[in-house]
Amino acid sequence: MGKPFNKANEKTHKIRPLYLQLIFTALAFFIMIIFSYRFLSDTEHNNLRRNTESMLTFEREKIQSDLLGPKTSLGNFSETLRRMIINGYGEQEIKDYAVDLTDYIRFNIESMSSFSGFYGYFETLTGGAVYIDGLNWIPPDDYVPAERDWYLAAVAADGKIVQTEPYVDKFTNETVLSFARCIYDDKGQRLGVVSLDVQINEICKYAADMTWERGGYGMLFDSNMIVLAHPVADYIGMEAKDLVYDIAGHEDKLRNQERISELSLLSYKGEESVGFFQKLSNGWYLGVVMPKAPYFESITYMTTLLSVLGIVLAVILCAILVRIDAAKRKSDMESLRKSTFLANMSHEIRTPMNAIISMTSMGKTAPDTERKDYCLSRISDASYHLLGVINDILDMSKIESDKLKLSFSAFNFESMINRVVSIIKSNADEKKQTITVHFDKTIPKSLMGDDQRLAQVVTNLLSNSVKFTAVGGSLTVKAELFDESGELCTIQVAVSDTGIGISPEQQENIFQIFEQAEADTTRKYGGTGLGLAIAKNLVEMMDGRIWIDSELGKGATFTFTVKLKRGGELHAVPDVQDGIDGIFSGYSILLAEDVDINREIVLALLEPTEIQITCAENGKEAVRLFSETPEKYNLIFMDIQMPEMDGYEATRHIRALPVPEAGEVPIIAMTANVFREDVEKSVEAGMNAHIGKPLDFNEVINKLKTYLK
Ligand code: ADP
Repeated sequence: MGKPFNKANEKTHKIRPLYLQLIFTALAFFIMIIFSYRFLSDTEHNNLRRNTESMLTFEREKIQSDLLGPKTSLGNFSETLRRMIINGYGEQEIKDYAVDLTDYIRFNIESMSSFSGFYGYFETLTGGAVYIDGLNWIPPDDYVPAERDWYLAAVAADGKIVQTEPYVDKFTNETVLSFARCIYDDKGQRLGVVSLDVQINEICKYAADMTWERGGYGMLFDSNMIVLAHPVADYIGMEAKDLVYDIAGHEDKLRNQERISELSLLSYKGEESVGFFQKLSNGWYLGVVMPKAPYFESITYMTTLLSVLGIVLAVILCAILVRIDAAKRKSDMESLRKSTFLANMSHEIRTPMNAIISMTSMGKTAPDTERKDYCLSRISDASYHLLGVINDILDMSKIESDKLKLSFSAFNFESMINRVVSIIKSNADEKKQTITVHFDKTIPKSLMGDDQRLAQVVTNLLSNSVKFTAVGGSLTVKAELFDESGELCTIQVAVSDTGIGISPEQQENIFQIFEQAEADTTRKYGGTGLGLAIAKNLVEMMDGRIWIDSELGKGATFTFTVKLKRGGELHAVPDVQDGIDGIFSGYSILLAEDVDINREIVLALLEPTEIQITCAENGKEAVRLFSETPEKYNLIFMDIQMPEMDGYEATRHIRALPVPEAGEVPIIAMTANVFREDVEKSVEAGMNAHIGKPLDFNEVINKLKTYLK
């Protein structure tokens, strides 16, 4: 017993842990993002810090070198003056020298642009203590050189060059600082103090204006943490600790360290910022402050980019995984369906085969004719059933490979319905079921379409109704003209029964290939689960649709629509079962067929017609026989698959023979190759018509009538 495919089978199908794969993928990407973020952001961060530090170092060096020139000059100048005084030069010579050198430096040495002149206070010159100024500045009366910062600092430094803290020169109003040195004679006797002023406005402006990218700014503090340079002019001169933001609160840290990097602080605008500070060799501090957002912009950008990239990649990968999984599931399902289908088919084929074989052996040994007849009729039933199963399989495979084509000819719709009902009626009668037909007389007599395929749909629905309706039930077939527009008629056919019905859940599936409502349908009622799938496809090919109204236990109504054109003249197909005795006497045909039993069948079927039949066992023999006496044969029946030479080749050989009959003799394929392309191939090979096996007696007689002259 074949085990039909159903939902229960689907559930037992092992569900692979896709969610685990997805979680793993997402996790892997997450970890990857975190690690790459850490690595890249560290690298980027270090770069950023190093770049800013080296920028600051560069600026610091620049300021230092700006201050180094004047300091060096003072060293040289003071040493020369010392020598001059020791050697006895007087006030005038010293003054001349100071003025000359001041002029020279101010106008010729570019790097000393901030230099504003040498001056000094010499206590031991002949004529008494004297103040000498390279700019020829005459100090006012209240100016006491020995009380000035530069003088006091130099004396305290004992011969070394000192730098005073910057101050606003009360005479020039410029911010200046002085370098000063106390000079001594060889015996250590103090000769005086030599000094020079440097205007630091330029340096301060430069420090505050340092064009730091992205909204940053610079600051300069002297060694007492007094603001020398700041973009806010009001802050200049304030003590660092009195500032509202900036370095306020961090001065101690700065005093103790040569450099501070990435100090979190608020900018003077109140923005979250990072500060970098470095100490200059003269004890000053140079700093730069940058708002955090633009400073860390590249890292933020990189993080966003990485996260987006990671998420996109993870989503793509997950989507691919889902697709692969879906495809795998689909193919697993397909193969499960196919194997279930094979099991069903095997069952469907074996059941009638079993009946045929058993009934044949029973028939052989049956003692009386009545019993033999019974066996033969059962064999016949089983054979037709088997043929039905095979046809269903062929139809479905044609539909699946898109090879099923509809024929197009005029037919009588009412006759088609009646024919189907009359065929099914014998089965319904066995179950004491009544079939009522309501036929709408407005349906045109003649319609164009494939009546065989339409009959197949109605037959399927009606035989299902018989099958799934209990003894004594009633069936109804209702055909009506649903719509008519121009030549096109929409016909609606409904087949109702009072049978077992179908639950709403099952209704969704039964039109699918190999689907049956219940797992035990095959066992209880037989069937392949192909009929409705074929019906649905056929109806859709005729621009229609099919649906079901049913309730479990309360019968079912299958309704379908098809669109057909109004047809032309109808040709009645004669039934030739009777009246064939001797009709072809005098005619002679050639039968090319390799299988004994098939030759026997044709001989037996045509015996009453008195036609003369010559048999060939393969294509080669057929060609030979025909070429020997071409005038003898009025027609050739040609099997296709034969040993030595197949039917196509044999036909081509015959058609190529150099006798007039070769082109004229009708050749009809008689074969189990029944696909459309088989028919086309036989026409291509030069045959006139095609008869499928198993043979339809009517068809054989009609073909002979058509082609025998
Ligand atoms: P088969 O009849 O060969 O199994 P079909 O495709 O014709 O295949 O039908 C599919 C299934 O639909 C049947 O197995 C049955 O479960 C259900 N079915 C079809 N017609 C009827 C009906 N008239 N009443 C109840 N169930 C039906």
